[in-house]
Amino acid sequence: MIYLDYSATTPVSYDVLESYNKATRDYMGNANSIHALGVKSKVLLNSATKQICELFNISEEELTFTSGATESNNMALKGVAMAYGKIGKHIVVSKLEHPSIYKICDFLETQGFEISYVNNDEEGLVDFEDLKNKVREDTILVSICAVNSELGIRQPLKTLRQIIKKENPNTLLHSDMTQAIGKVPVNMHDVDLASMSGHKIFGPKGIGFLYKAEKVKLVPLIHGSGKTNELREGTPPLPLIVALSKACRIALEKLEEKEAKVKTLNERICNELAKIDGVVINKTKYSIPHILNISLDNIKPETFIHAMEEDEVYLSTNTACSSGDLSSSVMAVYNDKKRATSTIRISLSYVTTNEEVSKFLNLFKKNYNELNSLMEGNNE
Ligand code: PMP
Repeated sequence: MIYLDYSATTPVSYDVLESYNKATRDYMGNANSIHALGVKSKVLLNSATKQICELFNISEEELTFTSGATESNNMALKGVAMAYGKIGKHIVVSKLEHPSIYKICDFLETQGFEISYVNNDEEGLVDFEDLKNKVREDTILVSICAVNSELGIRQPLKTLRQIIKKENPNTLLHSDMTQAIGKVPVNMHDVDLASMSGHKIFGPKGIGFLYKAEKVKLVPLIHGSGKTNELREGTPPLPLIVALSKACRIALEKLEEKEAKVKTLNERICNELAKIDGVVINKTKYSIPHILNISLDNIKPETFIHAMEEDEVYLSTNTACSSGDLSSSVMAVYNDKKRATSTIRISLSYVTTNEEVSKFLNLFKKNYNELNSLMEGNNE
């Protein structure tokens, strides 16, 4: 099998699974219980939390565990909307967000909020001037993803923050960092709120976190019982949290070295695919190497993906989470409907090998040529 869909999800790494298993086996107590078993679990919970906080240079009060990035995004956007809705009802988002952000925005519109979509330039970078113009006195939140999930475009969050705060110091900046963490360096202090997900960094599915700077107020979405975190009450999923902490530690190790490896693989693939007539590479100078997006001129992306699947090569169309055929990110950058409806995402990881890339390229060419001649035959 050649798995090249690491941006959709990653396998759980062996060490992470070991941590998960050990916590499940040896720490059955509820971390909210006051007896010895509960205290034992609470000690482990505190140490896993502390480790994540140290890795991201944040405080424990600033961290809330969630079920993943979708929930973190909901907690951030709806939580801010409810907490600051009396001050203003305007929210700004980029045109390169994950579908979950747009769905939350659609919901918030039904609750009387106004959403503005900030433009980007032809390289996918948020347009600084447009951002400046869109931030108003009543703008409570701007949400801009650190790395876009379809084209891998990385935004300069520090600069964007400066622009936003200059226009309105009270406007909060949220960033969906799901596709950035473990691939490129991130700084939580560039933003006021940040979302992430464990299953993108070789952690288990069903766990992630929201970073929220101490001064930021949020109305919780989940009310219940528990003493661990007032933003998300209930029994903490200790094995998932321990596994996430392990996954984060591994993800942030030797980041530069891993990124350089992926860059070499990406360039190899790009060089080869660029030679094929009918393959267009959707890559800008801000695309990180882990996400490689292409459009096919003649072949439907689903057809191609299923043909590759027959050879046990796994790719995706735009994102695993998007509905509909059109890649909103490719549309936002290239403004070309044909290009945006024929996208394939090849997503790489530092565990991808040169050998896998060689096999992938051979199978790509084989399937491409076969399907292309079929298409040409049909057109005659
Ligand atoms: N945001 C981004 C940028 C993503 O890539 C994804 C996963 N495709 C999500 C949010 C949703 O994450 P989760 O699966 O953890 O809910």
